[in-house]
Amino acid sequence: GKYTREDILRMAEEEDVEFIRLQFTDMFGTMKNIAIPFGKLEKAMDNECVIDASSMESFYRNEEEDMYLHPDLDTFCILPWRPQQGKVARFICDIYKADGTPYKESPRYILQEAVKKAKEKGYTFKVNPECEFFLFHTDDNGAPTTLTHERAGFMDLSPVDLGENARRDIVLTLEEMGYEVASSHHEIAPGQHEIDFTMSDVMETADKLMTFKVAVRTIAKRHGLHATFMPKPKAEVNGSGMHINMALYQDGKNVFEDPADRLGLSREAYGFLAGIMEHIRGMTAVFNPLVNSYKRLVPGFEAPSDVTWSATQRTALVKVCRGMKEEKTIELRSPDPSANPYLVFALCLEAGIHGMEQGMEAPAELVKSIRELSEEEKKEQGIQALPENLSVALFEMEQDPWVEETLGASFLEHYKKGKRKEWKSYMKQVSEWELAQYLYQI
Ligand code: GLU
Ligand code: MG
Ligand code: MG
Repeated sequence: GKYTREDILRMAEEEDVEFIRLQFTDMFGTMKNIAIPFGKLEKAMDNECVIDASSMESFYRNEEEDMYLHPDLDTFCILPWRPQQGKVARFICDIYKADGTPYKESPRYILQEAVKKAKEKGYTFKVNPECEFFLFHTDDNGAPTTLTHERAGFMDLSPVDLGENARRDIVLTLEEMGYEVASSHHEIAPGQHEIDFTMSDVMETADKLMTFKVAVRTIAKRHGLHATFMPKPKAEVNGSGMHINMALYQDGKNVFEDPADRLGLSREAYGFLAGIMEHIRGMTAVFNPLVNSYKRLVPGFEAPSDVTWSATQRTALVKVCRGMKEEKTIELRSPDPSANPYLVFALCLEAGIHGMEQGMEAPAELVKSIRELSEEEKKEQGIQALPENLSVALFEMEQDPWVEETLGASFLEHYKKGKRKEWKSYMKQVSEWELAQYLYQI
């Protein structure tokens, strides 16, 4: 590890840390935490801090037992947005049961297991997510709106771009926390931004993504803006995706590379992408977990809606890079930022390796815009659509037994139960669209 117990105690003392947050992520990707005072730091490092899991929606409800938080010492860091006197530090924690065994429904555990399995085969998985989000104005009561500072005309009048400033501040804060930000830019929709990380270790990246979201929200707020990772906040413009660039290494070498291939990709790379395409429909309820996620996966907004891969078509589900000089990566474009990164990465890794090991063949490359293909042509070429809503995605999840094998039966049962509840609640609503469509005519 990076830090010893002594390192932590010394750093906490030197930095005048007053509180420590013990963080963990629930199955739906929400970060939870408890705060302990400095005096309890040693107790926390002895793995003695307890949470009452029975009161937590996303935990095994009938299992009325205490769960123990085991801080990962290497995740120790000071939260730069908290007061600079009496500072706040945090640990990301693993969750253990009272009998001393890991809680298998913890998403971080699921990713650890996937990483371990890959390691036994000699593989290291690196990822680089592209995180898109919107910055919106808040109203006079501080409640979020979907208005941006970039409404037509506004930009010319205002000498200071609030959004750009907020983004700059976000990047600086992330760098202060030791993040390597590869780039940040304005996205296509008004008020939409993107921050890209560098290719790094998958577990580290999952941890970072969770902290990233908190940092973005907190700093946006400081600039009087509301940051949202909602996949499709506005119907008329692009939604926010979380594209994942992936590469697999063996003995320090990228196994996706083969200079002899037309696209510079190895058989392993094609197997990996075939595995992801094979299981994509079953995995979508994890990659796109919200009712709202599916409003993004529609044609016309640069998000994928069909199961395709391509080196040239931007809106393909899987995009591979063309350049022979670039590092060979596979980019999965369907996940959105509301997804739980631990689960997304675990599934990508497992599906990819499954495809490699089974020697799966990649289907034909999509060489023209999917919009130019008729439904018949799609059918002929065996191009399937992504699930069109959360209910279909949950159904598809059941059709692919591999998903259950990978995530565990008990985990999946709880996950599906929570998501079905969400779908049912949505289905009880009557939308504006329905009123506009039916109220007068029918
Ligand atoms: N915002 C688009 C999406 O929903 C992606 C745009 C891009 O290619 O960066 O995935
Ligand atoms: Mg983008
Ligand atoms: Mg991309």
